[in-house]
Amino acid sequence: MNSNLFADASDSFEDATFVLFGAPFDGTSSYRKGSKWAPMEMRKASYNFETYNGDLDVDLSDVPIHDMGDCDTFADVDQTLEVVYEVSRQIIGANKIPIMMGGEHSLTYPCVDAYKDKNIGVVVMDAHYDLREEYGGVRNNHACVSRHIIDDVTSKYVSIGIRSGTKDEYDYVKSNKDIRSYTSNDVSDMGIDRILKEVDQYMSNCDKIYLSLDMDALDPAYAPALGTPEPFGMTPREVRTVIRHLAPKTIGFDLVEISPEYDSGNTAMLGAKLIRDYIAAKRKSMQA
Ligand code: MN
Ligand code: MN
Repeated sequence: MNSNLFADASDSFEDATFVLFGAPFDGTSSYRKGSKWAPMEMRKASYNFETYNGDLDVDLSDVPIHDMGDCDTFADVDQTLEVVYEVSRQIIGANKIPIMMGGEHSLTYPCVDAYKDKNIGVVVMDAHYDLREEYGGVRNNHACVSRHIIDDVTSKYVSIGIRSGTKDEYDYVKSNKDIRSYTSNDVSDMGIDRILKEVDQYMSNCDKIYLSLDMDALDPAYAPALGTPEPFGMTPREVRTVIRHLAPKTIGFDLVEISPEYDSGNTAMLGAKLIRDYIAAKRKSMQA
């Protein structure tokens, strides 16, 4: 066992179908910092679990997974995003599925931008709209990531779990009929299965989906160690349902915004479990 790497990620880059990498950066985090420690804490937590996923009948020890370790980061956010972009391009260029472990949510932009030449849709689970054009004078602040994805990469965009934003952000969503947004209240009222049916329909003319999980989509009761916790969130089961349902159509995944210093271990544990579930669900769809 090498707990410096994610569990069951013992294959070489060349042999791997799935390639994990950490992006330990929290430079623009506005409330609680510390998400730079999340990749390492999720790696440690990943050894808690059996390799076999009984729900999905997939054994992760049979799945070719590589962990590249952590990419370089810099004090400057734009320089850091450049590195994440290059790593993403390297993985995509080798026809493998990247899984980025953040770090803060701004890191998702280069992961998505790396697919710019493809016809992709983006699904984000998040408590926050992240639709500001800039925050605190910083364009690539974590509070702006979804806005830049919509403006620069694809307007095929869905958010699920929303319960926080400025009046401007709520107005932007109301007036922008190209995108879809489901609040946390929608998840309770409609049920996640109905939402996923609508998402499938909305995304039907996209070849592939990129899926980003800002962990604060989850209720802080389940995931207390977050950069910007927001009560009245989604349950782990709802989030897992989204991951399992969308995994077959995805070409990339990330999980961001865990701040382990506020954890008794359970948030990193849940994060590691959801990454393992993503891999198992995607793998199962590739075998079918
Ligand atoms: Mn976010
Ligand atoms: Mn958020």
